[in-house]
Amino acid sequence: MSLDCDLTVLEELTSNAKQIQDDVLTKILKANANTEYLGRFLQGSADKELFKKNVPVVSYEDLKPYLDRVANGEPSDVISGEPITASGTSSGNQKIFPANNIFFKNIHIFYTLGYLVMSKHFDGYKQGKVIRFTFIHPTSTTPCGLPLAPTVTSFTKSEFFRSLPKNSPSPYQIMLCPDAKQSMYCQLLCGLVQRDEVVSVGAVFASVLVQVIHFLENYWKELASNIRCGHVSEWITDLSCRDTVTTILVEPNPELADLIENECRQESLQGIVSRLWPKAKCIDAIFTGSMAQYIPALEFYSNKLPLVSKSYASSEAFFGLNLEPLSKHVSYTFLPNMSYFEFIDVDGGTEGEIVDLVNVKLGHHYEPLVTNFSGLHRCRVGDVLQVTGFYNMAPQFRFVRRKNAALSALARATLVLESSDLVIMGFTCYADISTVPGHYVFYLELKSKFNNNNSTNVLSLDNKVLVECCCVMEESLNSFYRLFRSKNGSIGALEISVVQEGTFGSLMEFFVSRGASITQYKTPICINSAEALKVLEDKVLARFFSDKSPPYLILA
Ligand code: AMP
Repeated sequence: MSLDCDLTVLEELTSNAKQIQDDVLTKILKANANTEYLGRFLQGSADKELFKKNVPVVSYEDLKPYLDRVANGEPSDVISGEPITASGTSSGNQKIFPANNIFFKNIHIFYTLGYLVMSKHFDGYKQGKVIRFTFIHPTSTTPCGLPLAPTVTSFTKSEFFRSLPKNSPSPYQIMLCPDAKQSMYCQLLCGLVQRDEVVSVGAVFASVLVQVIHFLENYWKELASNIRCGHVSEWITDLSCRDTVTTILVEPNPELADLIENECRQESLQGIVSRLWPKAKCIDAIFTGSMAQYIPALEFYSNKLPLVSKSYASSEAFFGLNLEPLSKHVSYTFLPNMSYFEFIDVDGGTEGEIVDLVNVKLGHHYEPLVTNFSGLHRCRVGDVLQVTGFYNMAPQFRFVRRKNAALSALARATLVLESSDLVIMGFTCYADISTVPGHYVFYLELKSKFNNNNSTNVLSLDNKVLVECCCVMEESLNSFYRLFRSKNGSIGALEISVVQEGTFGSLMEFFVSRGASITQYKTPICINSAEALKVLEDKVLARFFSDKSPPYLILA
């Protein structure tokens, strides 16, 4: 798709959502009907009804043995009709997803449309510069030599990335620097030098932007000094980065250096983003889902510039764009050309029903299933979304939560506790940002398997076991968590707070007193009301913290 295209493309896509989804499925089935995987269910047929009848809904783990075989050198057609040319990695423990040029082409279309939406809503966006802090991760290879990297990295390195609008103050060579610290420093330097042109400041996820601002707090003096003398610091040793920065930092600029120093040395960093980039009209990063916790911080740093959550995407597929970037109620409109999408209803009455993209019902909650061009068929994504409306025929979804991220951590903890004969009676978690850095607290109600009749109700808690529990929980959290915990130290040690027996009963009473139905009551996986938190905090028996950083493998 050319950048000269306009938003009529979006109108066409969304108006013809049903036909486009049909065509996408036909294309995928024709290309994949003879793979070993689909062949098992379709015997070479590309019939859509047969696909829905015979092909099972799967999770990543079900497909992993096939993907591992390709990674180990068997031909792509074990699972994909198109040659698998790269592998993306995704959340949680390192997962390998197949990718190919169709996938990257789709990402390119997605970004182009996102750019057009932003241009429509923000005056001067097309003419201005857009800071989007982007970092790549070193690419490794699978045993058979397929490049293996997080999806954003693979895309950033691809030719498709280079044909996107060149509106970043940092040339892409800087984003390609494998050393994140050098890259971050140089991206900030380029952004500061061109501050008067910058119309938007962002990163893919809000958490990343918060890290960049912390980095700025530590490096502003050096950045100003580089700008003052027109030379980049000696520790920027990546040659490509160095050479490229030199083309931006062409001459000494003492006035700009003074200005940066004046702004950054003030007592508070409140509004620092809008003070350094006075023409910025928005902060562009994902603020929905688990990223909502960074809203207060970024409102503070930006003096309440609009926080724009532009898109919803994953390594399985790119899903949808936020067509109303200035609205406080963020919804993503699914693009029917990205992949074939189905939805499992996760609401009480209709639970389990699978519907097509255009048949989702307003207000219902769904987990998306992806059938894509690179070998995933009816694969669960693990997110829960709610339908908020339709744009033409394409549904719009609010991101509700990631399914089971905390629950999979809990599953690991359960194993450790069981070996000490402890059973979990209740569980919930809370993101505590009152500490610096913030950290996660997991409230557990524990019961000994063997002292049920212990009238004194004293639970024997072994410090070693509970600390171990904290560590295994951290290991099973996603790659962003592990990165920020291990490398940047910007998430504190995970805490387990063991609460008295009966606490989760009190929690239920609390919610019931607020109108929850007892029959349908489910303990919230995460607590976000101060009163509910107090119910838990009043009953804490003991607190434990992980004593080491989780291994960090790959930045998704
Ligand atoms: P990954 O495959 O590692 O890129 O992670 C994809 C996951 O990130 C999705 O399945 C979501 O759980 C989360 N995610 C992506 N975009 C958004 C968004 N706009 N809002 C909330 N969560 C998101």
